[in-house]
Amino acid sequence: MARADRTKPIEMEVHEQHQAQGQARIEQSLVPLIFEESVAGRRGVDLPARGFPSRPAVELIGADLCRKNLRGLPELSEPQVMRHFLRLSHLNFAQALQFYPLGSCTMKYNPVLNDECAAMPGFADLHPHTPDHLAQGALELMARLEQALAEVSGMDAVSLHPAAGAQGELAGLLIIRAWHHKQGRPRTKVIIPDTAHGTNPASSTLAGFEAVVARSGKRGYLEAAEIRRLMSDDVAALMVTNPSTLGIFEPQICEIADVLHQHGAMLYVDGANFNALLGVAKFGDMGADVVHFNLHKTFSTPHGGGGPGAGPIGVKRHLEPFLPVPRVVKDGGGWRLDSDRPDSIGKLRSFHGNFAMLVRAYAYILALGADGLAQVSRRAILGANYIRARLREHFPTATDEPVLHECVLTHDLEEKGVSTLDIAKRLLDFGIHPPTIYFPLVVHGAIMVEPTETETKQTLDEFVAAMEHIYNEAQTNPQLLKDAPHTLALSRVDEAQAARHPVLRWQPKD
Ligand SMILES: *Cc1c(COP(=O)(O)O)cnc(C)c1O
Repeated sequence: MARADRTKPIEMEVHEQHQAQGQARIEQSLVPLIFEESVAGRRGVDLPARGFPSRPAVELIGADLCRKNLRGLPELSEPQVMRHFLRLSHLNFAQALQFYPLGSCTMKYNPVLNDECAAMPGFADLHPHTPDHLAQGALELMARLEQALAEVSGMDAVSLHPAAGAQGELAGLLIIRAWHHKQGRPRTKVIIPDTAHGTNPASSTLAGFEAVVARSGKRGYLEAAEIRRLMSDDVAALMVTNPSTLGIFEPQICEIADVLHQHGAMLYVDGANFNALLGVAKFGDMGADVVHFNLHKTFSTPHGGGGPGAGPIGVKRHLEPFLPVPRVVKDGGGWRLDSDRPDSIGKLRSFHGNFAMLVRAYAYILALGADGLAQVSRRAILGANYIRARLREHFPTATDEPVLHECVLTHDLEEKGVSTLDIAKRLLDFGIHPPTIYFPLVVHGAIMVEPTETETKQTLDEFVAAMEHIYNEAQTNPQLLKDAPHTLALSRVDEAQAARHPVLRWQPKD
């Protein structure tokens, strides 16, 4: 991994502000390893004076449990440690620091209020084995969140159990499988459109189905005729994202649901793109039998970097008995967890989901209310269409259909030897996290932009300006793009090498 050559002149003309940002980043690239800052004997903690006699650790826990060699542990003062990690955190791109239009990920602002609620001791310190009668508040919160999600999605029952979108998919498909099984007619296939998110075919394979590809029509959406063509008694369900990964609404969804239901098959809607529909349209009204939600996208719980997620599922009445256990149920004046459900698909994870995520999502829903949620999707849609309209000349969208909460852009810069990856890397120099690229697969060199509702028009204008700037650079100096980014601590890394041979341990020098 080569550090950017800092002696090389930055031969580009970016806005002064961006240049200043870039300079700051280069300075940060000088952040030493914490081990390099270490000075023998320096202390970061002050332990109180001992009021009791001390004994060597070996005597207390035995030599086999004591490390032989503690050489190389860093020794720093407390402020040094704080500064070190804060500086490191600024080397990252983060939603809290930069515009983050990563398509299909809904990197909206996560209100800090939600974190405060999740950190309330009554929630944060609750042990998952706490008896129901001492956890009534937490159980009620879960029940209320389930109700709110059922309401906005038009589904009859919700389970908060799955830990992520993909696990919600698996749960939903296992439910569909169990339902067909219970009817005495097990089915083997799930239809998945060519615009599907990669997790869809993966989940259906994991759930024991064979994935059958449906081709989207000329205008980019799925046509009922294609589903009719693929229908057979083996088809258990269609799994479709609405709006699709092209960011466009599936206008034939109701007719498609009818075709499926006539053949005894189900409609699974991947609701990860719910940010486009909140408060405006309901999956239940579209004929969905199962949906999953991504609380860590739509409902503003933090995500990225492998943090915890939450992928609740919603089902229509006939599928409720199959939901994972435990269920939160009303019991007299209170709530209890119920695992006595013979048709349930069982547990997919320990305990009750990532509970702190549930608190955040519920706080978000309460803070916005019904009107606020509808505003979310309206503003998200407005933002994406604004970007689409402003960039139309040089980065036209993949289809002519109006877009919802995100837009998939294309370009002709390959003629100049500039790839989508080069454009994405160059955006980093403008202090912008790259959009999702090369996805969906059906669009050559796709640039998938999801601005989200929390950005100002000014930010969207800056993004447009950066994209136009990059387009012009491609005409005059394509090499500049091929070498980008120029202003970060690291330039292009060998991703294959980094994945196959990660260096995870610091080796003390002798
Ligand atoms: C993000 C996403 C998923 C997967 O969700 P995870 O929580 O990352 O597992 C599935 N489908 C679509 C359309 C998505 O955008």
